[in-house]
Amino acid sequence: MEKSVLEHLTGSTGSCTFRADEPMAARTTFRIGGCAALFCLPETPEAFIALLDACRQEGVRHMIIGRGSNLLFSDRGFDGAVISTAAMDRITLDGTNVRAQCGAALSRLSAVTAEAGLAGLEFAHGIPGSVGGAVYMNAGAYGGEMSGVVESARILLGGRIEEVSAEKLRFAYRYSALQDNGGIVLSADLRLKNGNREESLALIRDLDARRREKQPLDRGSAGSFFKRPKAGYAGALIEEAGLKGACVGGAQVSPKHAGFIVNNGNATCEDVLRLRDLVVRTVREKSGVDLEMEVRLAGDL
Ligand SMILES: Cc1cc2nc3c(=O)[nH]c(=O)nc-3n(C[C@H](O)[C@H](O)[C@H](O)COP(=O)(O)OP(=O)(O)OC[C@H]3O[C@@H](n4cnc5c(N)ncnc54)[C@H](O)[C@@H]3O)c2cc1C
Repeated sequence: MEKSVLEHLTGSTGSCTFRADEPMAARTTFRIGGCAALFCLPETPEAFIALLDACRQEGVRHMIIGRGSNLLFSDRGFDGAVISTAAMDRITLDGTNVRAQCGAALSRLSAVTAEAGLAGLEFAHGIPGSVGGAVYMNAGAYGGEMSGVVESARILLGGRIEEVSAEKLRFAYRYSALQDNGGIVLSADLRLKNGNREESLALIRDLDARRREKQPLDRGSAGSFFKRPKAGYAGALIEEAGLKGACVGGAQVSPKHAGFIVNNGNATCEDVLRLRDLVVRTVREKSGVDLEMEVRLAGDL
């Protein structure tokens, strides 16, 4: 990145941390990915918006990440600016209404609301993403989904801030309209229910235990690698195809849960993509089902 461009970006906003040549392996739960030319951590929505403006003015390629828990980042990294929302994490409670900034961790939001005796977000405690990433993906687990609790979101779309209703977000399974219109979540307004603190905390403990028992949480991953197909479960189809434990380089179909591809320590993006191709091809041959990635590819491929 040219020095004058870098100076404009770093000078355009006060409350923001910048790092040059940041390894994305350190910023994603898969622990895979080459360097971003510039990694930016704005601390306020104002700094975030100013930075996005400066990127547009300078023609700098940029991408948004939350907590990097649904990303497979390219080995080549990204020759542009990766903007992380993680430092914008304020949560405000007002009765059963909750406002969360885009970078707030879902696990903290779930814990804070349960502690306050609010029910509805227990399902989200074990999802290691941010509020923005969870709205974008309509994240869900154990019968709950963001679509069930989001009332509206403050979105930056085409340089303008808009208050968008849940209906306009057109939530569907692991889908929101943001995936098509490029809108960026600044914050989300959620509506929860009055509940019972002890019951919510017990439910969280129970769901966390079920995750620890079933999922390979000791390995780098981005969660379920494939979307749930119309028929059956991706993990079961992969197991039936004989691929549980299959490896390519440092990437492996988890021996604990075949729906996860894990990083055994030194996996590259290339390893994961070759393993993905093997899984997709074999499952299609054996069961006629076309698996589709839930994990999103990022960076310069
Ligand atoms: C161990 C493990 C378990 C998981 N379990 C689940 C589960 O049970 N259910 C589930 O649904 N997912 C699960 N996931 C996947 C992941 O945690 C979710 O998809 C999560 O919502 C992603 O949030 P993130 O902040 O990490 O997004 P990132 O991975 O950083 O980004 C994902 C996408 O969202 C976009 N994005 C991020 N923030 C914003 C924003 N503010 N505005 C617009 N776009 C944005 C990014 O550009 C990117 O395209 C799991 C992952 C792991 C590693």
